[in-house]
Amino acid sequence: MKIKTPWIWKNGEMIERDSALEHNLTHTLHYWWWVFEWIRFYETPVWTKIFRLKEHIERLFYSAWVLDLKIPYTEKEIMQACIDVVKKSWEKSWYIRPIVYYGYEKMWLYPWWMKAQIAISAWKWWKYLSKDSVEVKVSKTRRIHPTTTDINAKICGNYANSILVSLEIHKEWYDEWLLLDTEWYIAEGPGENIFFIKNKKEIHTPRIWTILAWITRDSIIKLVKDKFWIIVKERLIPPYKLNEYEECFFVGTAAEVTPISSITDIHWIKNIYSSWDPDSISKKIQKIYLDTVSWKEEKYLNWLH
Ligand code: PMP
Repeated sequence: MKIKTPWIWKNGEMIERDSALEHNLTHTLHYWWWVFEWIRFYETPVWTKIFRLKEHIERLFYSAWVLDLKIPYTEKEIMQACIDVVKKSWEKSWYIRPIVYYGYEKMWLYPWWMKAQIAISAWKWWKYLSKDSVEVKVSKTRRIHPTTTDINAKICGNYANSILVSLEIHKEWYDEWLLLDTEWYIAEGPGENIFFIKNKKEIHTPRIWTILAWITRDSIIKLVKDKFWIIVKERLIPPYKLNEYEECFFVGTAAEVTPISSITDIHWIKNIYSSWDPDSISKKIQKIYLDTVSWKEEKYLNWLH
């Protein structure tokens, strides 16, 4: 098979993919003590551009700081490494995956004096939510409580929660799941944030406390304010209020903006939304977002690297 990601940037060097393998006694493999990023680059009229690279790398450093993983490079150097990996890849619209972890050194739970490893690869991935609009079910599994870990860091261990939820999908026919927090308010999808539209003029989204709240959420809040003159409000949204909205959509680096056509809540009540309609506000927001990532929005060209 032809590998289209032949090069990986690892600890300062561009190496061949097969030389980047790790030992099975790698600390990280045993304790899920590592952090990662999920960055997207797009083909644009002015060559390939990486969307909000600076913010992604800021989050990578924040997540690493939370786990006490000391990255021996500056944010600028890591940004440059991402650009170099993109230049070496053979396609123009892919994902970049930086990871920071501990290697094969020691096995103590507390990683005394261990050296952080950093690797950056790029690869092509299928569309994360493959339909134009998705049918969603509220999951039985709750979002991890924010006092048990830092939910706002992209820590690998946190993803045990998302993966557990995603396993439920294979038992039912829904396209995606929605997690409630431990107080039974809507939190987010396993890999997306969520927005709701009310009376065509109000946009609500869950508060920051129980979600990973970063790049796409921030982009949408700014774009909606700029283009529609609507200030997004953070709200506590219990499942019984889902029928107060006429539209809703997921957002995320992988999901981009994906309209939701229904959410079945925990009491098996199916709430139907018109977000899929070509005239819906969700579709307009989706278009503005896709224009922004593909170099068509003058004001936001500085989001592309
Ligand atoms: N929530 C979770 C749990 C996620 O994994 C992601 C994907 N990174 C998001 C939200 C969306 O975050 P972003 O827009 O920063 O990619």
